[in-house]
Amino acid sequence: MNCLFCKIIDHEIPGDIVFEDDEVLAFNDINPQAPTHILIVPKKHIATLNDIEEGDLPLVGRLQNTAARLAAERGFAEEGYRVVMNCNEAGGQTVYHIHMHLMGGRRFTWPAG
Ligand code: AMP
Ligand code: ZN
Repeated sequence: MNCLFCKIIDHEIPGDIVFEDDEVLAFNDINPQAPTHILIVPKKHIATLNDIEEGDLPLVGRLQNTAARLAAERGFAEEGYRVVMNCNEAGGQTVYHIHMHLMGGRRFTWPAG
């Protein structure tokens, strides 16, 4: 399978890894949009949010929990941060292995920016 994030998970290509356990990997985004910009991915290949199955729900919870923990470790949990998951082309997804963007260390506005 020609999946960039599976290759990072398998250490076939290097990633700037900040957290790893048996089910989840987190690494710094190569094109950061904030002082902290981490991608949190399941080790299981799931192409899009539309492909998440019932049995994957605990894993999705682990992604979120990892984001909250990394935010706390980096000291911006209380001030706040942004978590984003993009789905398919109109949603801005470019890598088809689900991933949570954790961004912190600056102020975000909504809906723009
Ligand atoms: P998305 O557009 O939601 O699919 O997000 C894909 C993200 O992967 C983008 O923010 C890219 O900057 C990031 N990215 C692409 N290649 C790499 C890589 N080799 N290592 C780390 N992040 C990457
Ligand atoms: Zn993959």
